Amino acid sequence: MGEGVLTGVREPGSREAGNSGEAARFLDAGLTRRSDGALLLAEVPVEEIARRAGTPAYVYNAAVIRDRFAELRDALQPLEHRINYAVKANSCLAVLSLLRELDAGCDIVSGGELRRALAAGFDPARIVFSGVGKRADELAVACQTRVGQINIESLEELDALAVQAQMVEGPPVRVAIRVNPDVTVDTHPYTRTAMAAAKFGIPADQVIETARRVAAHPRLELAGLAMHVGSQVLDPAPFEKGARRLAELIGALRAQGVGTLRSLDLGGGIGIRYKDEEPLTPRRLAEAVRPIVASLGLTIHVEPGRYLVGSAGLLLTGVLYRKHAGGTDYVIVDAGMNDLVRPSHYQAHHEIVVVHERGRAVKPVDVVGPICESGDFLALGRPLPEVQAGDVLAVLGAGAYGFVMSSNYNDRPRPPEILVDSGQWSVVRVRESIEDLLRSER
Ligand SMILES: *Cc1c(COP(=O)(O)O)cnc(C)c1O
Repeated sequence: MGEGVLTGVREPGSREAGNSGEAARFLDAGLTRRSDGALLLAEVPVEEIARRAGTPAYVYNAAVIRDRFAELRDALQPLEHRINYAVKANSCLAVLSLLRELDAGCDIVSGGELRRALAAGFDPARIVFSGVGKRADELAVACQTRVGQINIESLEELDALAVQAQMVEGPPVRVAIRVNPDVTVDTHPYTRTAMAAAKFGIPADQVIETARRVAAHPRLELAGLAMHVGSQVLDPAPFEKGARRLAELIGALRAQGVGTLRSLDLGGGIGIRYKDEEPLTPRRLAEAVRPIVASLGLTIHVEPGRYLVGSAGLLLTGVLYRKHAGGTDYVIVDAGMNDLVRPSHYQAHHEIVVVHERGRAVKPVDVVGPICESGDFLALGRPLPEVQAGDVLAVLGAGAYGFVMSSNYNDRPRPPEILVDSGQWSVVRVRESIEDLLRSER
């Protein structure tokens, strides 16, 4: 399926018909196009948001997040389960609050995310603390806050946690062991996390020994086992293999007399459609793991980030200039790699649609940002209808690992975040100012 199909000039009235690829991606984001060419996000004209909030700007569609959550919950329904949203995918407080209202728990990887999760009103008991390099001060706050579970990733981290656990009163601190299940995933090398040589998790052959150490500590309780095989995973097989390995280990631990196990955490990583991928549906995932985990008598945890919010987000960017150089047509826009780093960091594909389509001829262009780096692009050789200064482009699939990975490189203030819900839109995080950038310097 060609990229040009999405944004190509079509016969009047052919917009909804014919192209299931475009229909699918528009549906994923909750977008529609009016017959006059205006793009609507959940009935709200995107052009109006861009005009009033300015560009670049991140826009999230609450309805998409709710739909994804419902689909996952329904697929997992036959299992005793918990959906813990991976905060790092999009830590906007409005997004966190929305997910909390849906009864999600959350999965955090830093003290900063812990603060955010608490600020968004999450019950500490529903917070799981993951991450390969938690500092002593972060472990201390997690123990004091009584987060529901801390997933440890090395024996040395276990020792560091034990020190902090000794300093708090009350019931023992609940620990899960993140196991490296040694499965390889067909995703970008930077988002594979579960092959034997990865920095993540404790190798399967050290799990029993680690569990023994947890069990022997009066201030710790072994609550479960965890894994996370990678990100943007489209094939259920790695989840199935990993779940099988974890289930075997659960059996081995029980045979050793460990009686405190309550959870099996299958991690996140559910892949979505950015271009023409077949997304990993919750139903396929659930069907793959259910036969393995259903009879364990444990609560099954999942930690999706991208799946819940990725398709829900757009990055709006304004066209500044056009130019032709060395045989390439450039469209220079006001969003750069500091705003959305995925194209340059992961060679990621994001669909780009013209917000007000006027049916102009399509030709391939490089959509590039204002940053002083040749790696600063949103798309290369992308067929787009001809645009001019002042036009607005919507970069799709920008709800996960978008704003959260943005930076102030080139002293660029970060964009605002906008939530569209029930036919209304509101700025939930204002655009940074230059003053904000200077504030913390002496
Ligand atoms: C990043 C991460 C997730 C979420 O990954 P997605 O691909 O966004 O679903 C879940 N669990 C852990 C431990 C992670 O590091």
